[in-house]
Amino acid sequence: MYQYPFYPLPPQPSTIAPQKKLLKDKYEVLQIELGSGTYGKVKLVLDHVDKKKFAIKIISKSYMKQIFATQHILNELNYLQGCKHKNIVEYIEHFEDRDNIYIVLEYCGQGTLEELIKKKQKFTEEEAFHYFYQIAQAILYLHEKDIVHRDIKADNILLQNSNVKVCDFNWSIFLPNGGKAKPCSCGTTQYMPPEVIKKEKHDKGVDIWALGILLYYMLHGELLFRAKQKEELNEKICNKQSIKFNEKVSKECLQLFQQMLAHQRRINIQQVLNSDWVIKMLKGKQSQNSLELTPIKCKSIGQESTRVSIVSDSSRFSNYKFTAKSLYTESPFKQNNLNQGVQHPMIVRSSALDQNNPAFRVEKRYFY
Ligand code: AMP
Repeated sequence: MYQYPFYPLPPQPSTIAPQKKLLKDKYEVLQIELGSGTYGKVKLVLDHVDKKKFAIKIISKSYMKQIFATQHILNELNYLQGCKHKNIVEYIEHFEDRDNIYIVLEYCGQGTLEELIKKKQKFTEEEAFHYFYQIAQAILYLHEKDIVHRDIKADNILLQNSNVKVCDFNWSIFLPNGGKAKPCSCGTTQYMPPEVIKKEKHDKGVDIWALGILLYYMLHGELLFRAKQKEELNEKICNKQSIKFNEKVSKECLQLFQQMLAHQRRINIQQVLNSDWVIKMLKGKQSQNSLELTPIKCKSIGQESTRVSIVSDSSRFSNYKFTAKSLYTESPFKQNNLNQGVQHPMIVRSSALDQNNPAFRVEKRYFY
C-alpha cells in the first residue's frame, strides 16, 4: 500500500482546539452556505458585537476519524495562523464544541477564481495579469517562509472586491533549507507537475507549475491538460506534448509559460515576478493608471540597464530603501542566466520608488 508521508510543519505550536467555546455565543450563523468540502461546510456568520461578516469552516468531528484528516486540518490551522499577507485569506480564530471544529476566516464575498473563469470564459492578458500578479505575490511570501502550498488552483483562489486571497492549506508543507518533499500524490491532478505524477521528490517548483497552469486556464478558459481517464491525463502531463496557445498570447507570456512549465530547471517565483511579461504588464498598468515614476540620471559605468521592477512587500525586501539615493544597493532580484543556471547578484546604482504604488520601481542596474 502507498505510504502517506509525514508532513513537517513550520516550527510553531499548534493544537486543533485551544479553547472550548460555543459558536452561538459569538456568532450568528446565517443560512447562507458559501461552499463545502469533504470535511463539512463553509457558512456565513455575523459577529454579535459589530455585525461584521466572517466565513466559518465547520469541520465535523466524525470527519476527523478519516485517514489523514487530522494532518490536513492541522496543516490548514498551522499555516493559516502563521501567514499574514494581503493575498492570503486571514485566519481569525478557531474553537470547538461537542460535534465540530470551527475555523473562522475573513469573508471573501466574490466567490472563487474558478467561478469567475467559468463565467467569463476567457480573460485578456491584462485581466489575467491582475489575478496572476497577486497570486504570485502570495506564493513569493510563502516561498520566502519555506512554505510550499501544493494545491494552487482556481478553486483555491477566493475573491474579495477583485482582490485575490489564496486559501486551503491542506496540502501545504514546510521545506526549509532548500529541502525536497517525499514523493506523494498531493494536490489536484490537472495542476500537478510531472515530478508529482511520477511520485518523485518535489519542491517549491510545484507551485510555479500550478501557477503556469492557472495562467493558461485564465487565458484560454480551459485547462491545459484534460482527459477522461486519469492515466491519459498523467501521460499528457509527463510527456511534453506540444502546447497549443491562443494565437493572441504575447511572446513574453509564451516565454514565461515555457519557463514555468519546464520539466527541468523551472524558474523560481522571484524570476517569475521579474520576467519580461510581468515587467511589460506592470509598465502597461503604470501607463494606464498614469503613475509617475521619478526619472533617474546615472553615469554610465559598465553595462547598465533601466527597467521597471517590483518591490516585494515582504518583510525581507522591505528593509531595502529604494530611493534616488540608494546607490550600490544589492537588488533583491537576481540576474538569472537560465542557460547556465547561475544567478548573479545585481547592484542597483540608483533607483526611484513610486510614491503611490510601491509595486513599481525604476532601477539603474549594474550587472557584473
Ligand atoms: P475550502 O474547503 O477552503 O476549499 O472551501 C470550500 C469553498 O467554501 C470554497 O470554494 C469557497 O466557495 C467557500 N469558502 C471557503 N472559505 C471562504 C471564505 N473565507 N470566504 C468565502 N467563501 C469561502
